[in-house]
Amino acid sequence: MKSLAVNGGSPVRTKAFPDWPIFGQEEEKLLLEVLHSGKWGGTGRIKLQELEDKFAAYHDAKYAVSCVNGTIALTIAMQAVGVQPGDEVIIPSYTFIATATSALLFGAIPVIVDVAPDSLLIDPDKVEAAITPKTKAIIAVHIAGAPANMSRLKEIADKHKLKLIEDSAQAVGAKWEGRGIGAIGDAGTFSFQSSKNINAGEGGMILFNDEEVADRAWSIANVGRIRSGAWYQHEHIGWNLRMTEFQAAILLAQMGRLDEQIKLRENNSRLLTAGLSAIDGIECFGRDPRITVHANHLYMFKLNKALADRVNKEDVIKQINAEGIPVASGYVPLNKNKAILTEIEKWTGEKREFSCPVSERASEKDVLWLHQNVLLGTEEDIQDIVTAVEKVVRTYE
Ligand SMILES: *Cc1c(COP(=O)(O)O)cnc(C)c1O
Repeated sequence: MKSLAVNGGSPVRTKAFPDWPIFGQEEEKLLLEVLHSGKWGGTGRIKLQELEDKFAAYHDAKYAVSCVNGTIALTIAMQAVGVQPGDEVIIPSYTFIATATSALLFGAIPVIVDVAPDSLLIDPDKVEAAITPKTKAIIAVHIAGAPANMSRLKEIADKHKLKLIEDSAQAVGAKWEGRGIGAIGDAGTFSFQSSKNINAGEGGMILFNDEEVADRAWSIANVGRIRSGAWYQHEHIGWNLRMTEFQAAILLAQMGRLDEQIKLRENNSRLLTAGLSAIDGIECFGRDPRITVHANHLYMFKLNKALADRVNKEDVIKQINAEGIPVASGYVPLNKNKAILTEIEKWTGEKREFSCPVSERASEKDVLWLHQNVLLGTEEDIQDIVTAVEKVVRTYE
């Protein structure tokens, strides 16, 4: 058997995977238009209006409000739907820290629930079990670009009169039952941070279908102004949380590539699943048939139980990395995040614990990630991934 690259053997691959970001003449042209307009800030409305309109329409939403980043987009969304300091917000454990910090920023309390083992998406049964008289909202995170079970979550939210927010930072362009994600709930937030599927370096967006809620969000992001008001008329507390025109220019150009990139990622993700699931020791995640479009921000797969229980996941990752494949370990679940638990204690005066065995197992034992840019490669790139994973896994037989 060929020896592993970590032991001095030759690696399966030495070529790089596709670079990110991808950009070209369109970004240049639109950026220069903004530059020469002299209207660079978020009140210029040179490209921002077009971006908000296109982004809303692309996701089947009525209204869009742009802002500085995906974290603040969540804070604005919560405040716009009426979440107050002290209110509880139910969030999944297997997500980026911002899903929790966006609430803690203003004293709303994240209540962390576990994810479903077959998807690593927020588990609706766990959501229902975590509802208390203090619960005000649920944040569904479309992790990896896969829409959460919006049908079930919407039923739960309606039944208990809760607001439903979609953290769609990883899911630009995804669809649930044929409908764009983002405004299936009361509000949906997006991030354009450098790693995301469309990126402007930084940036955020919030989608709505209710005009009043959208106007409230706009006001929060615009120093408490109202759309029809005077410059120094501040009707609410708000901040300058605006996106710049330069970001809007880049994003308009990036949106022009989105359909094609979504298709390519979907295709490569299918090829990966076909290849990886044929390897003894590897298991792939299924896909809810109601997911019409998966944004594939991450490709997640796992070591099967037999293998995961007798190997060290971090060793496996090092071995696959040495073969030239950039697999990563992924999140430490939020229920294990000391900063979050300390901050919850600070606001509530209570030491709270959350039981999330599925997330912990995913993090510590079995789940591996590939990032979205890897899915923009060729069939040959995908075959290299399968070959490398198989080569490493075989050594454990
Ligand atoms: C990236 C991300 C965010 C935060 O977005 P920023 O633009 O980095 O503030 C929030 N939630 C999830 C799930 C993310 O992946």
